Amino acid sequence: MADKRDYYEVLGVDRNADDAALKKAFRQLAKKYHPDMNPDNPDAEQKFKEVQEAYAVLSDPDKRRQYDQFGHAAFENGGGGAGGFDFSGMDMSDIFGDIFGDFFGGGRSRNDNGPRKGANLRAQVRITFEEAIFGCEKELEIVLKDECTNCHGTGAKPGTAKETCRKCGGKGKIVYTTQSLFGTMQNVSSCPDCNGSGQVIKEKCPDCHGTGYVANRKRIKVSIPAGIDDGQSVRLRDKGEPGRNGGPRGDLLVEVIVSRHPIFQRQDMNIFSTAPISYAQAALGGELRINTVDGDVIYEVKPGTQTDTRIRLRGKGVPSLRNSSVRGDHYVTLVVQVPTGLNDEAKETLKKFDELTGNSLEKAAKAAADAPKAEKKKKSFKEKIKETFDDL
Ligand SMILES: [Zn+2]
Ligand SMILES: [Zn+2]
Repeated sequence: MADKRDYYEVLGVDRNADDAALKKAFRQLAKKYHPDMNPDNPDAEQKFKEVQEAYAVLSDPDKRRQYDQFGHAAFENGGGGAGGFDFSGMDMSDIFGDIFGDFFGGGRSRNDNGPRKGANLRAQVRITFEEAIFGCEKELEIVLKDECTNCHGTGAKPGTAKETCRKCGGKGKIVYTTQSLFGTMQNVSSCPDCNGSGQVIKEKCPDCHGTGYVANRKRIKVSIPAGIDDGQSVRLRDKGEPGRNGGPRGDLLVEVIVSRHPIFQRQDMNIFSTAPISYAQAALGGELRINTVDGDVIYEVKPGTQTDTRIRLRGKGVPSLRNSSVRGDHYVTLVVQVPTGLNDEAKETLKKFDELTGNSLEKAAKAAADAPKAEKKKKSFKEKIKETFDDL
């Protein structure tokens, strides 16, 4: 499962791609890899399946939200076993009817007059490192469209009626034929004059200028769960664009941007940091105060600790989004500090210390004296050239 490609990458779209962009990408790729276009090409078939799966997830707002939060792990449990993805409960023919309906000619076409869910809105919120770890509440200001109270969303001036669209004769669709690679194709598209509704407004509502909606600035509370990571989104149901023809509102997707922390770094559920320890602490051991997201903890350093020793503080990491009582760990790298700016007494004591522990200073000095020919300084390039020519 680890080598599964990212669904956005499979479709070649960015993470903010809207439904139209997803559909466009899927349509192009599905056409490219469709088994009918690539007979006896198992690679294409594999790609076709991959594209299908990615689109099936990303085109479904619920599944996309789960995927945005948990990645492929969202579908690992209770999924389709080795395949990893559970297609049950997902009507693929619906997807294909929707997608291929117009380029394979005829087929199904969406009813533009039926209730349709409104588009999703997107927003961003910046939070601190600690807020991401422990969760928080934020307030956002967004502009939400609400149904116009004057015309009740029809867009027509109260007391006037809508007229049947002349371009499409009230059908909302226009059919035209084209010649293409696949032969003669019948294309059905939404009528541009009435946007597929089959009706046009004769006299516009003065309050909403015929749109049926008025924009209102609103403050919305967003509850951000503990453990959320940078780039993940929180979905607020029914806070998106209004639906059409009595359909439900779309959702508001709030992307979370987590600020960097001066000390802590995060990778998935673990936190990483470094802590300086003195030479004496490292050699003798002792208590060390370490910063964690839960506050300071006292750690017992072992005598003879080497620099870059990594210690683990269990359960001091990031809580799991699914179960906040499960937490990652905090790894701390202990960095031994070499003392600087020593006074004379400290220097003398350190020399004394060296004499008692292997006499490294004296040994090195003696070795240097015994080897007079050893180059004390790197020769300059000019000197080296001169030597080379003298040897010739
Ligand atoms: Zn109105
Ligand atoms: Zn029309």
